[in-house]
Amino acid sequence: MKYVMKFGGTSVKDAGYQRICDILSNYRSDKVVVVVSALKGITDKLLEATRKAERGDEKWIKDFLKEVKETHREVARNSIGTLPSWLEERLEKADEELKHVLHGILYLREATARSLDYVASFGERYSAEIASATLISRGFKSKPFTGGEAGIITNSRFGQATPIMEIVRKKVRETILPLLEDNTIPVVGGFAGATEEGIITTLGRGGSDYSATILANAIDADEVIIWSDVNGIMSADPKLVSEAVTLPEITYEEAMEMAILGAKALHPRALEPVIEKKIPVRIKNTFNPRHEGTKIMEAVTRPYHSVVKVISLIKDICMITIKGASMVGEVGMAARFFNKIAEAKSNVMMISQSISESNISIVVKKENAKKVHEILMKEFGNEAKKLELEDDICAIACVGEGMKGTPGVAARMFKAVADAGVNVRMIAQGSSELNISFVVKEVDGLKALKALHKEFIEKVGQR
Ligand code: ASP
Ligand code: MG
Repeated sequence: MKYVMKFGGTSVKDAGYQRICDILSNYRSDKVVVVVSALKGITDKLLEATRKAERGDEKWIKDFLKEVKETHREVARNSIGTLPSWLEERLEKADEELKHVLHGILYLREATARSLDYVASFGERYSAEIASATLISRGFKSKPFTGGEAGIITNSRFGQATPIMEIVRKKVRETILPLLEDNTIPVVGGFAGATEEGIITTLGRGGSDYSATILANAIDADEVIIWSDVNGIMSADPKLVSEAVTLPEITYEEAMEMAILGAKALHPRALEPVIEKKIPVRIKNTFNPRHEGTKIMEAVTRPYHSVVKVISLIKDICMITIKGASMVGEVGMAARFFNKIAEAKSNVMMISQSISESNISIVVKKENAKKVHEILMKEFGNEAKKLELEDDICAIACVGEGMKGTPGVAARMFKAVADAGVNVRMIAQGSSELNISFVVKEVDGLKALKALHKEFIEKVGQR
């Protein structure tokens, strides 16, 4: 089998990169490309460093550079013991480069999107170096790469770059395939790529998953494994619902819906490159590798007892409603309304309008709500319309492909919620029918979540 395996920052806790080697020992007869993300928290710190440098905080930067150096040396020592001199040299080169970039920003007092990406990419660069060296110390053949070196060529949309797949396929095959033939494990730093001119870019936060699936597409891998610290994708947050179960299989579509909901199992764009080639993605637990995890694939093979597979509770949101008889039949009203929200630079998470046209409700993130409300008040305050902002709400989203074309799911859903004594304030369903979301009072959120979990997940055998 040909695998691309991505190890997240959480996979590299106490035992350092040794755990990656332990896992790879079980795949000795397979061909494996490894993708690593930065150590936990490092990317955040690198981004903070650019802000400090921009403000001219020289002392902070000095301490920071020392800290970055020490953190990575310590993990390297925990993983390998005494560091070989070639590794010392490569790590020092990274230290020096990071120092130069941050000093550049310090002097200019300006951090462009381009320099931000350059700085942010260092976490994965260190990580790939140390992971690869650890593999070598354990008797594997291995070679480290940055994303750009491996062939992940992107456009120059810094911070959110998109791979140019035609070029990527060609370059990645040239660099990676000969190594696999030679039983060498390429270790690629995730998250970053490079433009055709060699300028470093990043694929967006959490982008190492995306790096893994881009590489899988390029080399026509049989499977991608995302190693993290959970057994897979669960039916609900186990911290909220103790009866939550791991789902053995879900479809690409369901997974995308969940990623967008912020289930955090996967980078939202990460599935694009594998869907095209129908390459399955498995989420597995580094600390419990025997568990089969969750397989994300085109169509599930096992029968399920439920049409709803995952139920999420979404907090820190507000609902804004505009209402008034004057809205009825007012052409262009919705356009005006949403234009104003865009002006507030806010995403809209949910939308609902009744057929009477006398009100529109939207849900936005709490952090954007005040600004949106203000701008809307300015625009509509003098008209015969009322604007309401509710900040004591939360949303519940039910995801499952079985809902598509199955009558009665909504009825069951709202009956379960009503039986729990919870009032529903707003409902939205996309025409994909993969997801029904609704808003309830914040105090009722957990009650509704548990009632739905009982109805759709725990009552096995019911359809
Ligand atoms: N290190 C990057 C981030 O924190 C990418 C990743 O972890 O996937 O966003
Ligand atoms: Mg991640």
